[in-house]
Amino acid sequence: MAINIILLGPPGAGKGTQARRLEEGRGLVQLSTGDMLRAARSSGTEMGKRVAEVMDKGQLVTDEIVIGLIREKLEGGDAAGFIFDGFPRTLPQADALGKLMEGMGRKIDAVIEMRVDDEALVARITGRYTCGNCGEVYHDDTKPTKVAGVCDVCGSTDLRRRADDNEESLKTRLLEYYKKTSPLIGYYYALHMLSTVDGLAEMDEVSAAITAVLDKRASNS
Ligand code: ADP
Ligand code: ZN
Repeated sequence: MAINIILLGPPGAGKGTQARRLEEGRGLVQLSTGDMLRAARSSGTEMGKRVAEVMDKGQLVTDEIVIGLIREKLEGGDAAGFIFDGFPRTLPQADALGKLMEGMGRKIDAVIEMRVDDEALVARITGRYTCGNCGEVYHDDTKPTKVAGVCDVCGSTDLRRRADDNEESLKTRLLEYYKKTSPLIGYYYALHMLSTVDGLAEMDEVSAAITAVLDKRASNS
């Protein structure tokens, strides 16, 4: 079934983890602007150099750049459906996405807000690392790799910590979220597109809550 979903929530809410599960379970394609921007910076292009500094400080990259990245992916791909992870993050981005989707004869079926409190986020983010090969997400305390330094899923030893996963950048990321991204909650609520799940629940419970939202939306449409 074709379905397009936005995952909304502060840094560390678990958007990436849930997006990966939805990808596997439903054959959807995850579009993470954070991942696209990290790919751009490591490719060493002029744009990559410009965004690296902004990202490391925890600030938002310009709307123009991220909208451009999303447009490229949407026009290039022919997926059953998309999971937008970390996009849109501002009202202009939300508008642009609406227009892009409309132009393709698609619509956003659900916006899922993953709600968490700030204390939990600091602990989650400062212990976080991921596999550079397959993208699996780990945590020092709650989900370490079974063998130290080796990815459980693919066996890669390329485990990475993000440059912006420190307390200083996180402070800025949270402020940016409340100032620029959280207004989207009201915006999508008014459009009857918003559903909220408890992002502090166990990973499986969060997945189940998201599945329930999507099933309900599907049966209503
Ligand atoms: P998180 O949700 O944990 O903050 P992301 O990987 O989604 O992680 O984003 C990392 C950084 O990339 C952000 O702090 C920001 O600098 C930049 N970024 C990602 N998506 C966007 C976006 N839609 N608009 C502006 N900047 C973005
Ligand atoms: Zn891996």
